[in-house]
Amino acid sequence: MISLPPDITFEKRPLPGGNGLTSSATAPWVRSGASCCRACPEAATHISCEVAGDPADPRTAERRVIFEPLGLEIARQMEQIVGSPTDKRPIVPPAPPVEPGEVVESKLMQCSTCNAFVAMLVFAPGATDTGRFEDYARRMYPEYSRRDLPTWIIGPASGPGPEDSADILQVWPTRKPLQRLTPAQFNPRLDRLAGSHCRPRKNNRR
Ligand SMILES: [Zn+2]
Repeated sequence: MISLPPDITFEKRPLPGGNGLTSSATAPWVRSGASCCRACPEAATHISCEVAGDPADPRTAERRVIFEPLGLEIARQMEQIVGSPTDKRPIVPPAPPVEPGEVVESKLMQCSTCNAFVAMLVFAPGATDTGRFEDYARRMYPEYSRRDLPTWIIGPASGPGPEDSADILQVWPTRKPLQRLTPAQFNPRLDRLAGSHCRPRKNNRR
């Protein structure tokens, strides 16, 4: 048996078309995201191991280093239980699972003078722990790396009041540690970006 540490989030979903299961494990202790094992019904014991994420995202390589030895060990133990495939022809695994079509709400902040975009906010009500923040960071990577704007992922508010804090993760242009901030602490950063876009020199002279 492979036992997983208690802080790993583990989810199983059926593959589209009912031809197997996809499993994903999210591990906050490696600050990385989801990985998948897929079983093909045509070759009952075949398992393919994949690492989810944009190939350009440096975190995808981190996930691969951590997950691949685990995936190979899972495959080895599965073969011990159910036997090696009798059909030795190469197996073409099914297409990668499509992630559920959850719409992630985001907002682009604009320069107060020329209306150019200066920052992006990603609203992540489901980001209740570091692993789930990593899920949002992984899934939104193609979007924020393409826009190349300072980007924050904002978790659920800690309470119902307008001044209640939220966990906030800056993911672009550099990854910062998760911070718990109130609107009064966070909004001035956005105001500075919106106000300084067309006046960077003037601000420097002061
Ligand atoms: Zn501007």
